[in-house]
Amino acid sequence: MDFSQTLNTTYTKLRDQLGKTNRDYIWRKNQLLALKAMLEENDHEINEALWLDLHKSRFESEASEQGVVLSEINFALENLADWMNPQSAATPLYNQMGKSHVRYEPIGLTLIIGAWNYSINLLLAPLASAIAGGNAAILKPSEISAHTAKVIAKLVPKYLDPNSFAVIEGGAEETGMLLEKPFDLIFFTGSSNVGKIVLARAAPNLTPVVLELGGKSPAYVDKNTNIKITARRIAWGKFLNAGQTCVAPDYVLIDPTVKTEFLSEMKKVIIEFYGENPEASADYCRIINEKNFSRLQGLMEGTELIHGGIFKKENLFISPTIVLASTDSKIMQEEIFGPILPVLEIESMEKAIAFINQRPKPLALYVYTHDEKVVESFEKETSSGSMCVNDNVIHMPMTSLPFGGVGASGMGNYHGIYGFKTFTHAKGVLDKSFQPDISVRYPPYSNRKEKVLGWLME
Ligand code: NAD
Repeated sequence: MDFSQTLNTTYTKLRDQLGKTNRDYIWRKNQLLALKAMLEENDHEINEALWLDLHKSRFESEASEQGVVLSEINFALENLADWMNPQSAATPLYNQMGKSHVRYEPIGLTLIIGAWNYSINLLLAPLASAIAGGNAAILKPSEISAHTAKVIAKLVPKYLDPNSFAVIEGGAEETGMLLEKPFDLIFFTGSSNVGKIVLARAAPNLTPVVLELGGKSPAYVDKNTNIKITARRIAWGKFLNAGQTCVAPDYVLIDPTVKTEFLSEMKKVIIEFYGENPEASADYCRIINEKNFSRLQGLMEGTELIHGGIFKKENLFISPTIVLASTDSKIMQEEIFGPILPVLEIESMEKAIAFINQRPKPLALYVYTHDEKVVESFEKETSSGSMCVNDNVIHMPMTSLPFGGVGASGMGNYHGIYGFKTFTHAKGVLDKSFQPDISVRYPPYSNRKEKVLGWLME
């Protein structure tokens, strides 16, 4: 079968089965347990694939890939019964005698498109939400993380209900063909450019779209902070996955009075984490492909090297790198998505806020300070997908917070109950008795009826 036949057969089967499968609590629970078993029983194979794709260490894989999905699954299993229960709602006087509630109903056949940087997490965490919501799903892993795509394509049909879930592999062309099908929801993680394509392709079918995009997430380092811990945390968040993390701190805006100390701590901590020769570290990732390697090399233009700067194309290695940059440096014009951290001096908190507000809304915003007033100013005066004070990246796996972008960094969110809500339709239900049948709403209208209606609607 060629790709288009495979796609048609898969789509038609899942669409046909939509009304025939009872996606009740038991089915959802069993599918979540099956997804959990899939991750646990194939942990080694998944880790191997992540190593081959990105040189990702077992520790990072467990923590940032399988671990995140497992925590989503466990949280959904704990809360699913509550989430599925219709939520009662107030019923106003004019609708007495009646009862009201909100039922979160499944959306239907969904399409989940993943990115390569966290190829397990970004495909299977939304899948956990899709299952909790009672949906069917076609998963489209990124072709760029080819080893994990293969493992997912092999395992999903073995573990999950084949009438409800399928994996379709492919790149831009194949995804384009997938997007021609009318899905009930598209959940996309990836770049803004492809996000725009997805949104445009969904429009003719009026398919709702969730876009989990990227952008330049700033970190502001105040003069009044713990510089040692700030440096440790920024180095960890930036060089995790070799900077190929959507919520990595993209650049640092720093108060000039603490810049020297910060840079010196950063150098120390990079050596502490990855040794004098990070190429030999088993804990340090590689760049995904040559295209991104060359793009990153190009971003060094016009910057002042402070640390690192070793680029080895033969094994796609870029050492943890710190540079000084200015607003018009090339590196400040696009999302970096690699292990290069530009540091820019900024005179004051007010200027940092203005700097951030002049740019597209970021996916995450980080503030390092002891000063609660500084925190409050950033929280109230800037807009970002999420915000994290005195740390970075670590807020991403939380099941209690929504995860998603705003403006240029995306639309919609997931994780925990937010994922359940994204993958369901909130249907408002009013259930009325025939009596009383208040006559004031019926014609012929009169001043008296208008007055009574006004009172009832107050
Ligand atoms: P990408 O947009 O190139 O690819 C994402 C997916 O879209 C892949 O599955 C790919 O096969 C598909 N695709 C590529 N070109 C396409 C086309 N022309 N038409 C249809 N589909 C197409 O993104 P990427 O390089 O995989 O990921 C990097 C980007 O993703 C970064 O911008 C990063 O910030 C962002 N990201 C966001 C999040 C988040 O949760 N918000 C997480 C990870 C990555």
